[in-house]
Amino acid sequence: MSQYLTDTQAKAAILDIGKRMYDRRYVAANDGNISVKTGDNRVWVTPTGVSKGFMTEDMLVCLDLDGNHLEGAGKASSETKMHLRVYKENPEVKAVVHAHPVTATAFAAARIPLDKAVMIETVIGLGVVPVADYALPGTQEVPDSIAPFCRDYNAVLLANHGALTWGKTPIEAYYRMESLECSAEVMLKLGYLNRPAQLLTRSQVADLIQTRKNNGVTTGGMPVCAEDREGEE
Ligand SMILES: [Zn+2]
Repeated sequence: MSQYLTDTQAKAAILDIGKRMYDRRYVAANDGNISVKTGDNRVWVTPTGVSKGFMTEDMLVCLDLDGNHLEGAGKASSETKMHLRVYKENPEVKAVVHAHPVTATAFAAARIPLDKAVMIETVIGLGVVPVADYALPGTQEVPDSIAPFCRDYNAVLLANHGALTWGKTPIEAYYRMESLECSAEVMLKLGYLNRPAQLLTRSQVADLIQTRKNNGVTTGGMPVCAEDREGEE
């Protein structure tokens, strides 16, 4: 028997996980992405610009591990690059899930890893969750930032962004996202989120505002950046 799911099984799993993620509020608007590997050089991914709670199979896209389009009508998200990197770094991985669960994302913004031996379940099923360096969305920095963790861990927090989990099956990758958010919520209640966010710098925000302009949006203003807070208590 093949170690891979069939294309049909993979697409059904992606739709199911997208709905679970949306229903649990792990993603807002069109955030998040899911991928499932169905061959040595074949990966189904979610499309950009679509709520992951309301996808249909015809929206999904099939790529090779270099990101070349193989099948499907949709357009893959730029965040797909980090999924492909996990598969390249660790051939054991067959599914990757990315979301922005609120509490885990708060830890990611404060750059606090989920690395304390607090809960038996997370030690067994999830393991330590390190924090990857901040990376500008859509750039090569993003896959490079997670590459060091793909072989020895099952999940990573993305600084000022969200979380990424992976596994040998789609449901294992997804359950790791649930465990990760559960672990973050328990750690929050225990007081481990004991510092404010590490704000982005003006130059990092300038890059994001350029992305915003490239998306055709010229409104939204300028947020308070790291330099603006210097000298404050
Ligand atoms: Zn994201």
